[in-house]
Amino acid sequence: MKYVLVTGGVVSGLGKGVTASSIGVVLEACGLRVTSIKIDPYLNTDAGTMSPFEHGEVFVLDDGGEVDLDLGNYERFLDVTLTKDNNITTGKIYQSVLDKERKGDYLGKTVQVVPHITDAIKDWIESVSLIPVDGKEGQADVCVIELGGTVGDIESMPFIEALRQLSFSVGKPDKKILPYPCELDSCSGCCWGAENKANTTQCPRTKSFGIDSSLFGMSLCSVFDMPLIFIFPFLQPLLEATKAKLSQFCHVPAANILNIHDVPNIWHVPLLLRNQNAHHSILKQLNLTSVATAPDLD
Ligand code: ADP
Repeated sequence: MKYVLVTGGVVSGLGKGVTASSIGVVLEACGLRVTSIKIDPYLNTDAGTMSPFEHGEVFVLDDGGEVDLDLGNYERFLDVTLTKDNNITTGKIYQSVLDKERKGDYLGKTVQVVPHITDAIKDWIESVSLIPVDGKEGQADVCVIELGGTVGDIESMPFIEALRQLSFSVGKPDKKILPYPCELDSCSGCCWGAENKANTTQCPRTKSFGIDSSLFGMSLCSVFDMPLIFIFPFLQPLLEATKAKLSQFCHVPAANILNIHDVPNIWHVPLLLRNQNAHHSILKQLNLTSVATAPDLD
C-alpha cells in the first residue's frame, strides 16, 4: 500500500479536497486502484450534528455514515463506495481509545495522546486503507489521505505525529506528502494575488505559510523529509519564472511544483494535473513508474 498525504493550507475551502480527489483520478487513469481517507481533526464523532451553515451539507454514505462533503467528491471522482470508517475524526479516535480504556485493555497503563491516540490513528489508517472500495477483490494500490484543517491547528498535531510515525514504519518510498500551501490567491492584500510573481520577499513568505518556518510547516519539512511536491492554487496558470523561484526558495524540483488555477468546473482539475505531468512526479515519488500506464483521461 502506498500512501499520498495531502495537507496544508492557511484557510479552508481552497480546494484541498478537490485536489486530493483529482490526484486519485489521475492515478486511477494510470491503471492504479485508489482508495481514500479524509481526516477531520474536530471532536465531533461525525458531521451528522454539525450545522450546514458552518460546515456545508452532510454527505450520507451507503452504510449510513454521515460525513464531510469531501467524501462525496471522492466517491464521484473515483467511482468508489466509501465506508464511514474512511472518515476519521478526533472524536472517533478518542471514543475508540476511551472505550478500550474502560474495558481495561490498557492493563493499568497511563493512557496518553502519544502513544495511545497516535497508535489508534495509525491502526485506523492502516486497516481502513485495506478495505476494497471499488467493487473488486483485494486492497487498492494507493490510499490518498487528506488531512483537513489548516496549518498550525493544535488539534491536527496528533495526526501529524501519527502520520510521521506511519511514514517511518511503512518506509519512505511508500509514504509521500503533498503539502498544499494555499496562498490566499483570492484574498485581497495577500502576497500573491493574481499577479503571478515571486519576488524575494514573497517566496519566504510562501514558505512561512505552510512549508518551512511556521510551527507546523517546520514539522512538515523536518518530519516528512521534504521536499516532495507542492501544489499551489492560483487564479491563473503559474509562469515558468515563478516556478523557478518557488523551486529555489522552497527546495522542491521545478517539476514537482504544480499549479491548480481557478477553473469553471472542478472536473477540469484532474486534467490540469495531467497536463502538468503530475503523474510523473507522483508515480516517481511512490516508486510506481513500472506498474503504471500513461493516464487515460480523455
Ligand atoms: P478544502 O478541502 O480546501 O476545504 P474544497 O476542495 O472543499 O476545499 O473546495 C472548496 C470549494 O472550492 C468547493 O466548492 C470546490 O468546488 C471549489 N474549488 C476547488 N478547486 C477549485 C478550482 N480549481 N477552481 C474552481 N473552484 C474550485
